[in-house]
Amino acid sequence: MTAFSLEPGQVAWCAELRELASQRLRPLAEKGEPGRVDRALVAELGTLGLLSRLFTSGALGLCLMRESLAHGCTEAETALALQGLGAHPVHAHGTPAQRERWLAGVSDGSVVAAFALSEPGAGSDAAALSLTAHPDGSGGWRLTGDKCWISNAPDADFYTVFARTTPDAGARGVTAFLVPADRPGLTGSRLDMLSPHPIGALRFDAVPVSADDVLGEPDGGFRVAMGTLNLFRPSVGAFAVGMAQAALDATLAHTARRDAFGGKLKDLQSVAHQVAEMALRTEAARLMVYAAATAYDAGAADVPRRSAMAKLLATETAQYVVDRAVQLHGARALERGHLLEHLYREVRAPRIYEGASEVQRDIIAKESYKNLEDR
Ligand SMILES: Cc1cc2nc3c(=O)[nH]c(=O)nc-3n(C[C@H](O)[C@H](O)[C@H](O)COP(=O)(O)OP(=O)(O)OC[C@H]3O[C@@H](n4cnc5c(N)ncnc54)[C@H](O)[C@@H]3O)c2cc1C
Repeated sequence: MTAFSLEPGQVAWCAELRELASQRLRPLAEKGEPGRVDRALVAELGTLGLLSRLFTSGALGLCLMRESLAHGCTEAETALALQGLGAHPVHAHGTPAQRERWLAGVSDGSVVAAFALSEPGAGSDAAALSLTAHPDGSGGWRLTGDKCWISNAPDADFYTVFARTTPDAGARGVTAFLVPADRPGLTGSRLDMLSPHPIGALRFDAVPVSADDVLGEPDGGFRVAMGTLNLFRPSVGAFAVGMAQAALDATLAHTARRDAFGGKLKDLQSVAHQVAEMALRTEAARLMVYAAATAYDAGAADVPRRSAMAKLLATETAQYVVDRAVQLHGARALERGHLLEHLYREVRAPRIYEGASEVQRDIIAKESYKNLEDR
C-alpha cells in the first residue's frame, strides 16, 4: 500500500495510454463531428480493451485511464467516461438479463450508453426531479416528462433514466429504469455547448417501461444515482488532472523556448514561480484523486466526503492551471485549434456537472459534521 506513488506497472500503463491518446485516438477524434457521439472513436476504445476495463479495474484504474487519455485526447476520455457513467448502473444493479443484453456491447463499443438524471427544473437539486412514472395498471409504468443536458443524447442506444414513482417523496420516490432508445414516445434534440460535447435533451411522451426495465429496486433509484456518482466523482477529478498536466507540460515547453528580454521566459522568476505553482497544485490534486479512488476501492466509510473533495479540488485546480497556461502562452493560446484554446473550453464544465463545486462543499460539510455527531 502506497501513500502515494503508483506501482511501476501502473506508471507504464499510464505512459502507454498517453501515447495511445495522442498518436492513435487524437487523429481519429479530429475526424469526428463536434457535438455528436463519435461511434468510430467509441469502437476504437472497445477494440483497445479500455471500455471493458471500466468494469474491472476499480476506481483507481478508472482514474488512471481518464487522467492519461485526457492528457492526449479529451474527446476519447469523455467518450470512455460516458460509457461508464451510463452503463455503471446496469453493471452494479442490473438483472442478469439486463447485463447480458447490454454490457457486452458497451464493452466492445458497439452500444452507446447515457445517464439521464438532470431535468430543466432539477439540476443540483436532483431529488426534485419530476419526470413521472405513471402506473399503467398492468405492473408497468409510462414515463412522461423531460431530461436535459444529457451527455450522449440523443444518439445513445440506451438511457439510465431516473423517474418519479412516488409523488412528494423526494429522493425516496425515485426509480432507475433502463430505457432502450427505440422505445415509442422517446424523442431527443441536440444542445450546442462551449466544449465539443455530445449532449442533448430528451422528451418522454408516455414511454412504456416494465418491471424488467427497473435497475435496482422501485423507489431505490436515488441510491443507484448516488452510488454511480460516488464512483465517478474522483474520476472527473482525474479528467481534470489530465487536462492540467497537459497544460502544464505545454507551458514548460513554451516558456523554456520563448525568447524574452534577452533570455527565455522561464528565466523570469515570476514566470518560473507561476509554473511551480501550477505543478504544485496539479500534483496535490492528483494525490487527492488517487487517495479518494483508493478509498472507494477499499470500501472505506468516508467515500462521499473524499470523492467530493477530490472532484472539487481537481476541477478548480485545472481551471486555475489552464488559465495560467493561457496567460503564459500569450496570444497564440487563443488561436482556434491551439491545445490551450481547446482545454480552456473543455475545463469549464466539470466544475458544474456531477455536482457543482458548491454542491461538493455541501457534501464535505455535511459529512464532516456527521462525523462530529457520530463521536
Ligand atoms: C457538459 C455537461 C454534461 C452534462 N452531462 C450530464 C449527464 O450526462 N447526465 C445528467 O443527468 N446531467 C448532465 N449534466 C447536467 C449537470 O449535472 C447539471 O448541470 C448540474 O447538476 C447542475 O445543475 P444546473 O445546471 O441545473 O444548475 P443549478 O442547479 O441551477 O445550479 C446553478 C448554480 O447554482 C449554484 N448552486 C447550486 N446548488 C447550490 C448549493 N447547494 N449551494 C450553493 N450554490 C449552489 C452553483 O453555482 C450552480 O452552478 C451535464 C452538464 C454539462 C454542463
